[in-house]
Amino acid sequence: MPELPEVETVTKEMAQKLVNKRIQSVHVRRYDLRWPIPKNFEQAMQGALIKNITRRAKYILIETDTENGMLWHLGMSGRVKISEQPSKPPIYEKHDHVQLILQDGTWIRYFDPRRFGTIQLVNNHDFIKNALLGHLGCEPLSLDFKGQLIKAAVANKKAPIKNLIMDQRLVVGVGNIYACEALFDAKINPNCPGHEITKSKADTLCLSIKKVLANAIKAGGSTLKDYRKSDGSLGYFQYQFNVYDQAGQGCKKCAAKIVRITQAGRSTFYCPKCQK
Ligand SMILES: [Zn+2]
Repeated sequence: MPELPEVETVTKEMAQKLVNKRIQSVHVRRYDLRWPIPKNFEQAMQGALIKNITRRAKYILIETDTENGMLWHLGMSGRVKISEQPSKPPIYEKHDHVQLILQDGTWIRYFDPRRFGTIQLVNNHDFIKNALLGHLGCEPLSLDFKGQLIKAAVANKKAPIKNLIMDQRLVVGVGNIYACEALFDAKINPNCPGHEITKSKADTLCLSIKKVLANAIKAGGSTLKDYRKSDGSLGYFQYQFNVYDQAGQGCKKCAAKIVRITQAGRSTFYCPKCQK
């Protein structure tokens, strides 16, 4: 599943290649994604000029010069394929659900085998008020995200800190992988109840969340630069995590064995020695 660093990387790549270009044609092959693509999508986007592409949580927001912009979500398995002025049309793959062709000859396809993603039309002035975005909490890499915010949100909670920081109403984009990695970096046990998180631990955790996400974005950027699939798809990057998916391996800091437990139905990985 694409996590925030991957969506950030895809967003930047799309912004670099698509902004200030006009959509010449739109073709939807399948409308039945997680939230169905609106029936008037093709008509609404044909001829629109792409003005700006930004990210909010794991949504990609594409503003245009028409009434509507687009909101893309990659779901579990979505990819964005971009072919810049190919000499012949890219070969259609089974799960290419939406195709945009720009006036300069750039092709964009949305590919999503599991169809948990979506593409929606959103009024250009209304992105943040949109039903899908309205409840979202702080952006983790913004200056607004501070230790104090974590402390205040978890102070009266008995739930484990790992589950609390994955709550999108507090902070967006801290998925299972980065929750595990940030808690390891902050030396906090994932089972620690919210009310036991001190101000100092909250400050450390806040910095660790920013650090692991920023490092992943940096790593992702360089991976994409070195490795580009022939279909131009902006996909998923894999790199070595400290604890995530490392059960039974030695901790990189103390060599104790990394443990896997289940919290709220998700696997948590941590070092029982470093994260007390
Ligand atoms: Zn350790």
